[in-house]
This record gives sequence, structure tokens and C-alpha cells, in this order.
Amino acid sequence: MIIVLLGPPGAGKGTQADLLSAKLGIPKIATGDVLRAALRDGTKRGLEAKAYMDRGDLVPDSVILGILQDVMTSPAAKEGAILDGAVRTVPQAEGLGKMLKEIGKKVDRVLLFDVDDEELVKRLSTRTVCEGCQTPYMGRDPGAKCEKCGGKLVRRKDDEPEAVRNRLEVYRRQTAPVIDWYDDNKMKVLKIDADAPVDAVTKRTLKALGK
Ligand SMILES: [Zn+2]
Repeated sequence: MIIVLLGPPGAGKGTQADLLSAKLGIPKIATGDVLRAALRDGTKRGLEAKAYMDRGDLVPDSVILGILQDVMTSPAAKEGAILDGAVRTVPQAEGLGKMLKEIGKKVDRVLLFDVDDEELVKRLSTRTVCEGCQTPYMGRDPGAKCEKCGGKLVRRKDDEPEAVRNRLEVYRRQTAPVIDWYDDNKMKVLKIDADAPVDAVTKRTLKALGK
């Protein structure tokens, strides 16, 4: 089963993706992670992406989709995958659909983790991230140590309240059409109320998936 996750920054998509991955026995494929891995390993697509980044440009969707295709055709993703961060815009939804079709697969479920803006601002302003391995933490102060790698936790500039409001506005503007696009393509987006403790959200998600 291939599951696409949608949701605003701070809704806990990454955490839920990890938990769902364990419950469903299919890997979580986070776009940021696979891009970093391709850069690190210096794959053909990774080098392509690096050329854009070195020029200060965004890596185009076509290159990201190529990296995702490499991962989706690997044995690990034989039974499916949970895609986190693959779709934020309509062109990305279209691109993902085409790319999967080329390899004889398709999106089976789309999940939307929804949380109120005010709650998200609150959550993100207490978030810190490891400088080294990028693991996010909630409710830990900047300067604390990362559990995974011992790196220093920092607050990202884009987690400041003003920046968060901006990101949420961009998110709402981009995501509403994505939901419509999936609807038009006969794919019902399953909306999960994610304003609840992590375990409760996982339960709701599994229920929505019929598991
Ligand atoms: Zn770390």
C-alpha cells in the first residue's frame, strides 16, 4: 500500500509516519531524508540535485521525483511505502502519480493530518532541531543535546511565531487545491484530527485506513 501524507508543519506527520511504518510493516520515505541520502551517496540524481543547490536554486520536482523513483523501485518498498513530504502542490501530486504509473504502482491512500493554526504556532515555537542530524524535538530548550547523535539543539528561524504564520498561510494556499485535485481524481483524502496525543492520532489513522 502506498500512502501519501499531507499536513501542515507541526502536525506530527513525521512521528506518525514512523509509527505507521512500524504498524503496517512498510517503510517511511521522507523526501528530505532521501534527498540528503542521495547527496551523501553522490548518486547520479544526487549530483543533479547538488548542482541546483550549489547555485542556490531549489531542487526541481523532476529531480526529486527521480530520487523518489529510485527508492520506490528498491526491494525495501516492494510492499509499499509511507510518503512524507512528497506532495505539497498540485504539480507534485500529478508528478508523483505519473512517476508511480511508470513503475506500475499507484497511490492507494491520502491522509491529511489536520491541526488548528494557533495550536501549530504553539507547538512549533517550542520545537528545536538537532544541528547535526536534523531530528526534531518538542519542549526542549536550544542548547540541549541530541539523544541520537549528541549534536546541539537549535531553534530554526522559520519556527519563530511570525515565520510559522507565514508558512501556514503558504501551506493552506497550496494544500486546498491538492485536496481538490485528489478528489477530482477519485481519491478521497482521509482527514485525521491530529490535535490529540500521539497514540490517539495513530489509532484514528489506523481506523481511517481500516486497520
Ligand atoms: Zn542529532
